[in-house]
Amino acid sequence: MLKTFRVDLHIHTCLSPCADIDMTPKRIVQRARQEGLDIIAVSDHNSVENFPALAELAEGLTVLPAMEVTTSEEVHLLAVMPDYEAALTLQGRIYSYLPIEKNSRLHFEQLVVNAEGQLVHFNERSLIEPVDMTVEETVQFIHSLSGLAIASHIDRELYGIINALGKVPEDVDFDALEISFRTSPEEARKRFENYRHLPWLWSSDAHHIDQIGRAFSSFLIERPSFDEIKMAIKGLGGRKVLP
Ligand SMILES: [Zn+2]
Ligand SMILES: [Zn+2]
Repeated sequence: MLKTFRVDLHIHTCLSPCADIDMTPKRIVQRARQEGLDIIAVSDHNSVENFPALAELAEGLTVLPAMEVTTSEEVHLLAVMPDYEAALTLQGRIYSYLPIEKNSRLHFEQLVVNAEGQLVHFNERSLIEPVDMTVEETVQFIHSLSGLAIASHIDRELYGIINALGKVPEDVDFDALEISFRTSPEEARKRFENYRHLPWLWSSDAHHIDQIGRAFSSFLIERPSFDEIKMAIKGLGGRKVLP
C-alpha cells in the first residue's frame, strides 16, 4: 500500500566547512525525528565521510548516502546514491580532483565524526572547491553508479545551474530539480514553467540544526527506501512526488 513519507534529501553535517560545528549525527537525527521526517540524505560538499555515523544512529529514520558536488562550472549537483559503496566510488572520483592540503586552515572546520559526535579526523581536502568534471560528466557518472542526479537549489544565484549556465540544459539527463525554501510552490510555477517535465523537490539545505524541517518533499511510496524514492522520481508503479 502506498503512503505519504516526508523526505529531505539535502542536509549538511559538521563536515561541510560552511555548516555549524554542532551539526553532529546525533543532533541531526534527533531534529529530523522531531520534524517528522521519514527519509533524509546526508549531503556534504564533495564528501560522504559522515554518512556511516548517521546511518548507525538512524533507528526508524531512513538515512541515504549523498553528496553535493561542485562541478567545474561551479554548479551544485546533489548525488543521492543507492548505497554507501556507490557513494564511496563517487567520492573516490571526486577526491582525485581535490588534493590534500596539509597547511590549509580550512580542514579544522571539516570534521569527520563518529556516532557519539567525537572527532575521528579532520578532512584535509578543500571540499568547497569545484572538481574537474562538468555538469554533464557528473550526471553521467552518478547514473553509471545507479544514483540520482538532482540540480541543487535552481532558484539560487550562488551555485544554482540557471544562474551559472543560463538555463537547465535539455541535453543533461537530470532526475529532478531542487528548489530552495526561499521559493514557494506558487512562485516556482511562475518562474520555472519551462521545467515542468522534471519532478521538483524541496529540501532544507540545512547548515544549522534549526534549519532542518524548513522545507521537505512528500513522496507517495510503499516504504522508505532509495529504490522507492527512485521509482517515485521516475513516476513508476503509482509512486510519485506529491505536489
Ligand atoms: Zn548548494
Ligand atoms: Zn547544500
